[in-house]
Amino acid sequence: MAKTIFKKIIDGEIPADILYQDEHCLAFRDVRPQAPQHVLIIPRKEIESLADAGDDDTELLGHLLQTVRRVAETLGVASTGYRVVINTRNHGGQTVPHLHLHLLAGRGLNWPPG
Ligand code: AMP
Repeated sequence: MAKTIFKKIIDGEIPADILYQDEHCLAFRDVRPQAPQHVLIIPRKEIESLADAGDDDTELLGHLLQTVRRVAETLGVASTGYRVVINTRNHGGQTVPHLHLHLLAGRGLNWPPG
Protein backbone atom coordinates (compact mmCIF):
# COMPACT_ATOMS: atom_id res chain seq x y z
CA MET A 1 0.00 0.00 0.00
CA ALA A 2 1.19 3.54 -0.78
CA LYS A 3 2.52 5.59 2.13
CA THR A 4 0.05 8.06 3.60
CA ILE A 5 0.98 11.72 3.87
CA PHE A 6 1.32 11.24 7.64
CA LYS A 7 3.66 8.28 7.24
CA LYS A 8 5.78 10.49 5.00
CA ILE A 9 5.89 13.11 7.79
CA ILE A 10 6.87 10.40 10.31
CA ASP A 11 9.65 9.25 7.97
CA GLY A 12 10.86 12.83 7.44
CA GLU A 13 10.12 12.73 3.71
CA ILE A 14 7.91 15.83 3.77
CA PRO A 15 8.14 18.77 6.16
CA ALA A 16 5.75 19.55 8.97
CA ASP A 17 5.59 22.16 11.72
CA ILE A 18 6.28 19.70 14.53
CA LEU A 19 5.49 20.92 18.06
CA TYR A 20 6.24 17.71 19.95
CA GLN A 21 7.50 14.20 19.27
CA ASP A 22 8.56 11.14 21.21
CA GLU A 23 9.06 7.45 20.47
CA HIS A 24 5.31 6.84 20.17
CA CYS A 25 3.80 9.93 18.54
CA LEU A 26 4.16 13.27 16.78
CA ALA A 27 2.18 16.52 17.11
CA PHE A 28 2.29 19.01 14.24
CA ARG A 29 0.23 21.91 12.93
CA ASP A 30 -2.56 21.20 10.46
CA VAL A 31 -1.84 22.81 7.06
CA ARG A 32 -5.48 23.92 6.74
CA PRO A 33 -6.27 25.18 10.25
CA GLN A 34 -9.95 25.26 11.23
CA ALA A 35 -9.24 27.26 14.40
CA PRO A 36 -6.48 29.65 15.57
CA GLN A 37 -4.74 26.60 17.04
CA HIS A 38 -5.14 23.36 15.09
CA VAL A 39 -2.71 20.56 15.84
CA LEU A 40 -2.74 16.92 14.74
CA ILE A 41 -1.47 14.21 17.08
CA ILE A 42 -0.60 10.93 15.37
CA PRO A 43 0.94 7.64 16.48
CA ARG A 44 4.13 6.49 14.79
CA LYS A 45 2.47 3.09 14.55
CA GLU A 46 0.46 2.72 11.36
CA ILE A 47 -3.18 2.33 12.46
CA GLU A 48 -5.65 3.33 9.75
CA SER A 49 -8.34 4.71 12.04
CA LEU A 50 -9.67 4.48 15.58
CA ALA A 51 -11.90 1.65 14.32
CA ASP A 52 -8.74 -0.27 13.40
CA ALA A 53 -7.07 0.06 16.81
CA GLY A 54 -6.74 -3.16 18.77
CA ASP A 55 -7.08 -4.11 22.40
CA ASP A 56 -3.27 -4.03 22.56
CA ASP A 57 -3.33 -0.32 21.61
CA THR A 58 -4.94 0.79 24.88
CA GLU A 59 -1.71 2.25 26.28
CA LEU A 60 -0.92 4.01 23.00
CA LEU A 61 -4.40 5.56 22.82
CA GLY A 62 -3.99 6.84 26.36
CA HIS A 63 -0.61 8.27 25.46
CA LEU A 64 -2.12 10.14 22.50
CA LEU A 65 -4.71 11.76 24.78
CA GLN A 66 -2.08 12.66 27.35
CA THR A 67 -0.09 14.23 24.52
CA VAL A 68 -3.10 16.32 23.52
CA ARG A 69 -3.33 17.54 27.11
CA ARG A 70 0.37 18.44 27.22
CA VAL A 71 0.34 20.19 23.84
CA ALA A 72 -2.73 22.18 24.92
CA GLU A 73 -0.85 23.30 28.02
CA THR A 74 2.18 24.28 25.92
CA LEU A 75 -0.04 26.31 23.58
CA GLY A 76 -1.62 28.06 26.56
CA VAL A 77 -5.16 26.97 25.73
CA ALA A 78 -5.77 24.56 28.60
CA SER A 79 -7.60 27.12 30.74
CA THR A 80 -9.86 28.43 27.96
CA GLY A 81 -10.49 24.94 26.62
CA TYR A 82 -10.31 23.03 23.40
CA ARG A 83 -11.91 20.27 21.36
CA VAL A 84 -10.45 16.88 20.45
CA VAL A 85 -11.81 15.27 17.30
CA ILE A 86 -11.11 11.83 15.82
CA ASN A 87 -12.74 11.62 12.40
CA THR A 88 -13.21 7.92 11.75
CA ARG A 89 -13.70 6.31 8.35
CA ASN A 90 -16.16 7.49 5.74
CA HIS A 91 -19.09 8.86 7.72
CA GLY A 92 -16.68 10.37 10.22
CA GLY A 93 -15.15 12.50 7.47
CA GLN A 94 -11.70 10.95 7.70
CA THR A 95 -9.53 11.86 4.70
CA VAL A 96 -6.10 10.56 5.76
CA PRO A 97 -6.08 6.81 6.60
CA HIS A 98 -3.67 7.09 9.53
CA LEU A 99 -5.19 7.55 12.99
CA HIS A 100 -4.99 11.19 14.11
CA LEU A 101 -6.46 13.39 16.82
CA HIS A 102 -7.36 16.98 15.98
CA LEU A 103 -6.72 19.51 18.76
CA LEU A 104 -8.78 22.63 18.00
CA ALA A 105 -8.54 25.73 20.15
CA GLY A 106 -8.28 29.50 20.27
CA ARG A 107 -11.93 30.36 19.67
CA GLY A 108 -15.36 29.23 20.83
CA LEU A 109 -16.39 26.17 18.84
CA ASN A 110 -19.96 25.48 17.79
CA TRP A 111 -22.02 22.46 18.72
CA PRO A 112 -23.42 20.34 17.13
CA PRO A 113 -20.69 19.91 14.52
CA GLY A 114 -21.64 19.69 10.83
P1 AMP B 1 -9.19 14.15 8.54
O1 AMP B 1 -10.08 14.86 7.56
O2 AMP B 1 -9.77 13.99 9.89
O3 AMP B 1 -8.64 12.88 7.95
O4 AMP B 1 -7.97 15.14 8.77
C1 AMP B 1 -6.85 15.19 7.94
C2 AMP B 1 -6.19 16.52 8.22
O5 AMP B 1 -4.88 16.47 7.74
C3 AMP B 1 -6.88 17.72 7.55
O6 AMP B 1 -7.29 18.64 8.54
C4 AMP B 1 -5.79 18.28 6.65
O7 AMP B 1 -5.80 19.68 6.58
C5 AMP B 1 -4.52 17.76 7.31
N1 AMP B 1 -3.36 17.61 6.46
C6 AMP B 1 -3.30 17.03 5.24
N2 AMP B 1 -2.04 17.04 4.77
C7 AMP B 1 -1.28 17.64 5.74
C8 AMP B 1 0.10 17.94 5.86
N3 AMP B 1 0.99 17.64 4.90
N4 AMP B 1 0.54 18.56 6.99
C9 AMP B 1 -0.33 18.86 7.98
N5 AMP B 1 -1.65 18.60 7.92
C10 AMP B 1 -2.13 17.99 6.81
